[in-house]
Amino acid sequence: MKIIMLGAPGAGKGTQAKMIADRYGIPHVSTGDIFRANIKNGTKLGMEAKQYMDKGLLVPDELTVKILLDRVAEEDCRNGYVLDGFPRTIPQAEVLDEALAGLGEKIDYAIDVEVPDENIVKRMGGRRACLSCGATYHIEHVPPKKEGVCDVCGQELVLRDDDKPETVRNRLKVYHEQTQPLIEFYQAKGVLKSVDGTMDMKDVFAAIEKILEA
Ligand code: ADP
Ligand code: ADP
Ligand code: ZN
Repeated sequence: MKIIMLGAPGAGKGTQAKMIADRYGIPHVSTGDIFRANIKNGTKLGMEAKQYMDKGLLVPDELTVKILLDRVAEEDCRNGYVLDGFPRTIPQAEVLDEALAGLGEKIDYAIDVEVPDENIVKRMGGRRACLSCGATYHIEHVPPKKEGVCDVCGQELVLRDDDKPETVRNRLKVYHEQTQPLIEFYQAKGVLKSVDGTMDMKDVFAAIEKILEA
């Protein structure tokens, strides 16, 4: 099963992608997590990506596409995967499509998690991230057991630099300009499914399960 998560930054793609990955035993592939791991390790890719990420801009397709295609070519992705944060532009979607077509494969579902912009800025201010293991929390909706500490790995939780309100507004603008057109792209391919992302996360997941098990 190959699934793409669509939706604005902060819509809950990562939260739902992790639940899907656990439930169906497929890897959760997040280009944002891959970039953050590279930044943390001080790689050349990380240093390049950071310049764009800090401004709320997309990392150029040339840098992004290759790391994604390499990742999904790994052994653990053989039975499928859930992509979170990729594709984010039409050219990225086209490259992925061509690569899959070359293997006689395709995307099965593109799930759009719908949340209005007004809700997003509020949500992001409360997001806390673990840069060690990629776990995500929310100070109100998903608090860690101990304030400021990751339940999974014990590392310190941070407010991501790009989750500050000014940067979030920029990311929303970029989302509407560059990423939202993917909704029509996948609609035209007949694989688009939408869920109301303003519901409680358990209810969002129940809606997704219904789609995947229909
Ligand atoms: P969120 O989950 O909040 O939407 P991500 O972790 O997916 O954020 O992405 C953080 C940042 O990493 C993006 O704002 C962008 O700069 C960069 N990024 C992640 N995935 C891509 C992609 N597919 N194409 C271009 N840039 C990306
Ligand atoms: P994305 O990957 O789309 O950027 P995340 O999954 O990281 O979004 O979610 C953004 C923030 O909102 C996180 O702090 C997360 O804990 C919280 N969150 C996710 N889903 C919900 C929900 N349904 N209701 C309220 N808060 C949510
Ligand atoms: Zn952690």
